[in-house]
Order: sequence, then C-alpha cells, then structure tokens
Amino acid sequence: MDRVSKAIRSKTMSAIRKRGNRSTEWKLRSALIKAGISGWVLHETAILGCPDFWFDGTRLAIFVDGCFWHGCRKCCRLPKQNASYWRPKITGNITRDRSQTARLKRMGFQVMRVWEHSLANREELTTIVGSIRSLVGRLSRGRRMPNKSPDA
Ligand SMILES: [Zn+2]
Repeated sequence: MDRVSKAIRSKTMSAIRKRGNRSTEWKLRSALIKAGISGWVLHETAILGCPDFWFDGTRLAIFVDGCFWHGCRKCCRLPKQNASYWRPKITGNITRDRSQTARLKRMGFQVMRVWEHSLANREELTTIVGSIRSLVGRLSRGRRMPNKSPDA
C-alpha cells in the first residue's frame, strides 16, 4: 500500500471502501448457494449500513468486514506512512460498525459480522454457514429470537 502512488491509492480506496473485498464476499455467496440456503439478497440499500447479505424473511443482516478497512485485530496493520491519516479513518470505521450493529439490533434485527479472513479458512467458512443456517432455520419457523446472539 505504501508504494502505491497517491492517485492510485485514492482510486483503489473509493473502489473498495464501501463494499470491502468483493472476492471474499463471493466466497460466502457461493458457500450459501452450495449449502442450499436461500432467501437472501445482496447489498440491501433499504437497510441501515447496506448489509452485504440480507435475509428479509428472518430479518438477518450479514456484513462481510474487510480486515483492513474494518480494523481486524488479527490482520489489520496500518501503513507506517501517513499513520495520522489512516488511524482515525480505520478507528472511525470501527466506531461506525459498532453503532450500526447496535442500532440494527435495537430495531429487532439479527446482525452477523463476518471477518474477511475467516472466509479464507475452509473450516471457519463451514462454521459460519452452519450458524447462518441455524439462524435462518430457527427464525423461519416463526420463533422470533431475542436480540441476543443464540450462542450466548
Ligand atoms: Zn482479519
């Protein structure tokens, strides 16, 4: 990232800022299809934060968070150059993510945030798809979940 010229960087940035990493999102998309899980749409703009996957019937919002932009503790390494530029930007994204999640939950929605890095791991991906299946399955049988994670 440091060696990329400023112009290219800002172009790349605007391309990926909104959606995170497309190719990782596609991993989850194809995993859902393979698992036979349906009833979702991509990028539902009518919902706060425009979730990457939205299950209307069960009011489940899934966000695929890019490790860099969303400040993953495991993977996000801020560029040493322009730290004063990056730090507040990434911190701001983290704060916005948290407040969006909280607001959506207050509205009675289920929210799931998935790290980009976990989709790259086959085992983690299987686990994620499993939890989506159980959330969707449970809710679609008409039992409204409380605003807490079913794993809690
Ligand atoms: Zn990560």
